[in-house]
Amino acid sequence: MKITEIKIYPLSYQEKKSLFIEVFTDNGLKGLGEVGVARLAKSVISAIEHLEKRLIGEDPWESEKLWQIMFRGNFFPPGVVYSSAISAIDMALWDIKGKHEEKPVYELMGGNYHETITPYASLQPLGSSFEEYRDSLVEWAERAKNLGFKAVKSEVTMNGPYAHNGMNENDDKHTLVIESVRKALGSEVKLMVDVQYKWKTAEDALRTVKDWGEFDIYFLETPVWTDNLEDYARMHEEAPMKIAAGEWLTTSHEFKDLIEKGKVDVAQPDIGRVGGLTEAKKVSKIVDKYERIIVPHCWKTSISISATAHFAFNTPSCKFIEYLPPQLCHETLRKELANEGFEFENGLIQLPTKSGLGVELNNEAVKKYTVG
Ligand SMILES: [Mg+2]
Repeated sequence: MKITEIKIYPLSYQEKKSLFIEVFTDNGLKGLGEVGVARLAKSVISAIEHLEKRLIGEDPWESEKLWQIMFRGNFFPPGVVYSSAISAIDMALWDIKGKHEEKPVYELMGGNYHETITPYASLQPLGSSFEEYRDSLVEWAERAKNLGFKAVKSEVTMNGPYAHNGMNENDDKHTLVIESVRKALGSEVKLMVDVQYKWKTAEDALRTVKDWGEFDIYFLETPVWTDNLEDYARMHEEAPMKIAAGEWLTTSHEFKDLIEKGKVDVAQPDIGRVGGLTEAKKVSKIVDKYERIIVPHCWKTSISISATAHFAFNTPSCKFIEYLPPQLCHETLRKELANEGFEFENGLIQLPTKSGLGVELNNEAVKKYTVG
């Protein structure tokens, strides 16, 4: 089996973007992959075109060797652009291998450690005043609970560099929002909180989060900037919940620092950014060594979500993945581009049965949203 071509599809709908690829082989198979930084589409497209030249004529079964060829020999360290290009190609090669063997990808990766995976629903806050924001999160929490979700993650970001809708509310208001969400969920549903790098230092963060123990938060995501490894280590020591980070990191080398020096409890690699399934497995080995947990980041279309699910089933330390049924999402590309390669029943993701990633593209949507 030989790789013959890579087709690239940049998609856009309103302000949302996505970039996926198809890798073709000489025996008529094709694999799907998606990149984790569609915002940098132009650069990632050039990187994929550059890598394609090295891959034509190569055998998809040698995906580990091909990963090394793509990673090295670019004359500079890969960075997020190359790493995302490699991620999409690696995803597609696993899809091809699965289709060739007529087996789901998790099986080729070594089988499943879990019978089901627990997805957490990401609550999507709306509104630009404190009251609107709080009420929209409470409404989402109730909805997710009624749908059978056993875990939810709430972004609570009303100040800092990623403040929603230009808001600038103080830290006490964040505490009030979390209190209301926890009340709406009851004590049974796991609650994760993402504050999107809102504090500059662990000192600032701890002043507020030391009082969040009573809300039984499963993890707190990205309290400070990911490079502040000393601050992460301090958060790990002093915060009353697990600390999560890593959504933007590339390669297992960066995760090694995050876990070894930053002592982060929950590693969050994004399969479309970190270097694909091949590199995510290396992150999981580091996570195992330090007895941490892995909860992959994923907020893209059904292609990335399905790859993430296969990874989760194969990874012992992975207990949750980020997931919302397409019909509940605001985002058109997420809803329309493709069908997922798994079923969602009783609040749980069921073991995939289809070959490869099991994703079926909606060709109408591909045509409609592909740009230039
Ligand atoms: Mg986040």
